[in-house]
This record gives sequence, structure tokens and C-alpha cells, in this order.
Amino acid sequence: MNELRIPVSRLTAFIADIFTAAGCARDEAERIAHYLVSANLAGHDSHGVIRVPRYIAWLKEGAVKPGQTLTIVNESPTHALVDGNRGFGQTVGPLAVDLGIEKAKAHGLAAIALRRAGHLGRIGDFGERAAAAGLVSLHFVNVAGGELVAPFGGVERRFSTNPVCIACPRPGAEPLVLDFATSRVAEGKVLVASQGGKPVPEDSLIGPDGTISGDPSLLYGPLEGTLVRDATKGPGALRAFGEHKGSGLAFMCEILAGCLTGGATSGPMPAGPRHITNGMFSIYIDPQHFAGAGFAAAVESYARYVKSSRPATPGSEVLLPGEPEQRRRAERLRDGVPLSAMTWQTICDTAASLGLTPPALGEDNGERAGDRG
Ligand code: NAD
Repeated sequence: MNELRIPVSRLTAFIADIFTAAGCARDEAERIAHYLVSANLAGHDSHGVIRVPRYIAWLKEGAVKPGQTLTIVNESPTHALVDGNRGFGQTVGPLAVDLGIEKAKAHGLAAIALRRAGHLGRIGDFGERAAAAGLVSLHFVNVAGGELVAPFGGVERRFSTNPVCIACPRPGAEPLVLDFATSRVAEGKVLVASQGGKPVPEDSLIGPDGTISGDPSLLYGPLEGTLVRDATKGPGALRAFGEHKGSGLAFMCEILAGCLTGGATSGPMPAGPRHITNGMFSIYIDPQHFAGAGFAAAVESYARYVKSSRPATPGSEVLLPGEPEQRRRAERLRDGVPLSAMTWQTICDTAASLGLTPPALGEDNGERAGDRG
């Protein structure tokens, strides 16, 4: 498989240039680039720069709007219902998190219901933001306008990939961050696989006849002849993780992030371009108002105990939520972000459509690029 390694600073600058050329203010373009590259650094390529062509298409179509802020629909000292006005998730998402942080710091607990946000990307970034402020946080997300996942026992799509994130600060150490899609794999991972990246597990998708498979064409339809993937075109569906339990969690994400926010639940996707928004119901908790000073020590002690479990495979280790991402981040900050040649091509094509010249890659300018099997 042909894979490129792109240094983080060069990739981030190139992505920011693309969003600037597409009409975003420079600070917003840099923020979008920061969060997309952050997802790649965490190892979640599905929510990284692979999304650029789609984000630019949505921007051109008016499905996502630059320069937006939150509208506060309803508020008390411990809660807020906010509307993201179809602004970039990378802009309205952090604003909603900061509102939750401010309220929880003042009152111990806060719930923020965000509706109509542009794609929020990797939710773990928001858990990490709250943890950096010393807060525990829980985030339940749905995707209005996107229907990709079959419920347990069904073959027809009824949910989206509805991620859940729970994050916990650890003073002096990286936070604990549990952050996953409730589908067997995130849709973006099927996108990565469809573009020559890592294949998805063989039990990730289900066909209309109930056949279980790892074939991305069940989601996108025929893959040949185009790099553009449209999830309305496939005859099948993603599967929920964890059988009835993951399916139930995905259902409850729709209730919390779709119904409680007053936004929209997942439903049949209209023909034509897929214009999704995210809903996110978040709870922020200041440990100082609960276990208090003993909380951090209790977390450390228990985390050590969990990690001390004898590895199932000799030579391996038990990892805590967030540890795989921390390790991947350290490796990619050092070696660059790996992208399939096909994914890089789609980003360069998007840049070219906006009149930009992609940065040159090659040994001569310090890049490592080549065949990595
Ligand atoms: P995943 O299956 O890789 O699971 C990631 C979680 O599992 C992390 O908390 C990680 O620390 C933990 N983990 C992974 N390997 C582990 C191990 N060996 N031991 C212990 N813990 C381990 O993630 P995913 O389901 O593919 O989701 C990818 C990303 O997609 C997430 O960041 C999610 O927020 C994002 N997402 C976003 C949307 C959206 O609409 N915005 C939709 C779906 C998913």
C-alpha cells in the first residue's frame, strides 16, 4: 500500500490554507486544521484530514457556515441549550464546551445541550478540553441527517455512528479518555478502507439480506472509477458494536443528543448531498464538589490496579482509555501523519480546485514518502 508521511506543521498549514482559500477567516481555518490534524495525531484518521474534501463541499453547498457562534436558546446557572447554527463543529463545539466548563467550575455540575453543530469530528478532543480544566465530562452525540447503522436485530439503517465520550482529568498526567463510535467501526474508517487504507473488520457491515461482511461497497455502492464516496449509495448498513448493548447505547444517543437538544434524530437520508449536523448532550462535573481532594489519588490508585492485571498475551500490556491515542500522538508528532496516497490525492485535488498548489513531498525537502507495504 502506498503511504505518505506528512510532517504535522506542514500538513496543518496546508489544511488551514485550503479553508482560508474556501472563504473561512484565517483563525477559523487554523482551528479547523488544528482539530482535523489532532484526530490524525490521536490515530483516528477517520476523523482527520481525510474529511477535507467533504467539508469543503459542504461549505460550497452552504450546508456548513463559516464565522458562526452559538445562540443561547435557554439557560440557567447549571445548564444551557445552545444552537450551533450549522457553524463548523470545530468552532461551535469548543464554544459549547467552554460554556459547560465555566458553569461547572462555578456550580459543580453543568449540562449543555448543543444542536445543529457542523460535524464535530473527534469527540475526545472535547473531553480532553474539559479534562485540561480539571473536569470530568460525558458526551453523547448523534448525527442528524445521517443514517448509517442498523439496530440490533435489523438490517435497515436507523442510527448514525453516534459516539460516546467520557473523560477524566489526572493531575500531572494525560487524562483518561474513553471515546468511541457506537457502530462496530466509525464511518470514516470504512471511508479510509475504501480509499486504500486499513481494511475494516469482517463483521463491520451488514447487507440487505443479513450477510455480515467488511466490504465498504455495502455502505458506498460500487467503488471503482471514483474516489468520491456517498454513503447514500450503498445497499447495506454499518453494524452497532456490542450486539444489543451498543445498539441500545446508539438509540439513547439519539434520545439525548437528538430529542433532548430539540435538534433532530437520525432519519432517512434525502437523495443528493448528505448535509449532516451533530447534536451533543454533555455533562460537566467538577470533582472538587464531589470526592474532593481524594479524587485524583483514588483515580491513580485504581488505574494502577487495572493496569496490573496480567496481560492475556505475554509481552503485551493492559491499556487505559486514552493511552493508545497518547502513544500514537507521540509517534506521529515525531514521524509525521501517515496518509494513503489516495487520501492525499483527494486533498490535493480539493486544494487545486481552490487555486492552491499542494506542498511538494519527497526526500529532498525532508519528507519521508514511499511504499510501506
Ligand atoms: P475506537 O474503536 O478506536 O475506540 C477508541 C477508544 O477505545 C478510545 O477511548 C481508546 O483509548 C480506547 N482503546 C482503543 N484500544 C484500546 C486498548 N487496546 N485498550 C484499552 N482501550 C483502548 O474508536 P472509534 O469507534 O473508531 O471512534 C473513532 C473516533 O470517531 C472517535 O474519536 C469518535 O469521537 C469519532 N466519531 C465522531 C462522530 C461524529 O459524528 N462527530 C461519529 C462517530 C465517531
